[in-house]
Amino acid sequence: MAVTRFAPSPTGYLHIGGLRTALYSYLWARKTNGEFKLRIEDTDTQRNNDAAMEAIIKAFDWVGLNYDGVVEYQSKRLDIYKKYINQLLDEGKAYYCYMSREELDALRESQMANKETPRYDGTWRPEDGKVLPSIPEGVEPVVRIKSPDEGIITFIDGVKSIMNFDCSEVDDFVIARSNGMPTYNFVVAIDDALMGMTDVIRGDDHLTNTPKQIVIYEALGFTVPKFYHVPMINNPQGKKLSKRDGALDVMDYKRQGYLPEALLNFLVRLGWSNGDQEIFSMKEMLELFNPENINKSASSYNEEKLLWLNSHYIKNVSNDRLASELEFYDCHLDGHDKKEMLLDLSKERAQTLVELKDAINKILNTPTEYEAKGSKKFVKEETPKILKYYLNTLEEKKETLHLACDYEIITKPFIEEFELKFPQLFQPIRIALTGGTQAPSVYDIMAILGFDEVKTRINRALEVNFNK
Ligand code: GLU
Repeated sequence: MAVTRFAPSPTGYLHIGGLRTALYSYLWARKTNGEFKLRIEDTDTQRNNDAAMEAIIKAFDWVGLNYDGVVEYQSKRLDIYKKYINQLLDEGKAYYCYMSREELDALRESQMANKETPRYDGTWRPEDGKVLPSIPEGVEPVVRIKSPDEGIITFIDGVKSIMNFDCSEVDDFVIARSNGMPTYNFVVAIDDALMGMTDVIRGDDHLTNTPKQIVIYEALGFTVPKFYHVPMINNPQGKKLSKRDGALDVMDYKRQGYLPEALLNFLVRLGWSNGDQEIFSMKEMLELFNPENINKSASSYNEEKLLWLNSHYIKNVSNDRLASELEFYDCHLDGHDKKEMLLDLSKERAQTLVELKDAINKILNTPTEYEAKGSKKFVKEETPKILKYYLNTLEEKKETLHLACDYEIITKPFIEEFELKFPQLFQPIRIALTGGTQAPSVYDIMAILGFDEVKTRINRALEVNFNK
């Protein structure tokens, strides 16, 4: 039974890298009948913003990752952190440090000049028999943790296997600032421990924080969770993903017409695999996902794959679902008597819901202009005559015209009788009905629009566009 969490800092929108670690954490918790928690890491009051916080929760709602219990906000847990800081001070595992900013800067500079890694030098670290400097006036101290000064901090990372950090890499870092506010690595360790995390799955940009957090766990006697550090998502050129490549707000994917199941399917595969399987329903993800199988190397963002997955899901979800998704794009199909036909026809070619909406509108809206190139190519001198005959032929059988095949039954003999080629009839009709030559089956469009509307549109085109 795994207890996992997603712990975003609300300093910006939720991007897909974040959503991927959230998904992995979610899957692992749900698969093991454990718990998945959402914690907002909002102690950096300078950089937080409320809109980002709301956006994160909205994005979670959209993709359907439900979390257990209430959302925890670190800003509301300051008393808890203070209690542990005091405990560490009382136990002599942490200490006040009165070094001023200037002294710290000078220390750093001299270490860098000597080609040493900058680290706190332990000036205020109490040791047996050591005499500490006298406390300067007017300096509010920070609190530093006593990190082990020798040895190795080791943990087994579920992705990267054994990780060793020499203690010299972890100095006595600050756990509370001079204003009393606890620092990032301290609160993360406290929260993960108190919230009972068994597994921490996060981006490998946090790898260097882990030994520091382990120092906190050990100082407080907490059980260290299992860590999984997930490699980054790169762009196809192997560089850091930029906004242009797809490092967008998760909600931008909604605006661009992606279904949440396509995005989740895309993300699960970006960094994890199960043989060469590409399509994963949520049920399958839950059955098959195991963080032990997360890839060790960075993954590459591939927009074509996302589009391919999205068109797969657009074709495979129910028409009712599509109709309800389309509401967001201001495309309202409820109550339309040809809703099913319209969706069946339009979804075959749509890679996004925005394309689906455009395809539907192209059929539903009377064209306001006609493609010049297509008109020039397909509208000939005889076209008006053919269309008028054709309309008359349809009108005679008007009562029988419901489905695409009803139009087909009448059209085939018509074409034969007048010795026409299909494009001679169909391309001008496509132009008349939709404004262009790139449209799906004319029979389907006619069935959707119904004879009266077909007649109106063809007559209008005859009047304004085909009157050679
Ligand atoms: N708050 C951190 C972030 O947004 C994540 C911390 C963690 O997962 O441990 O990057």
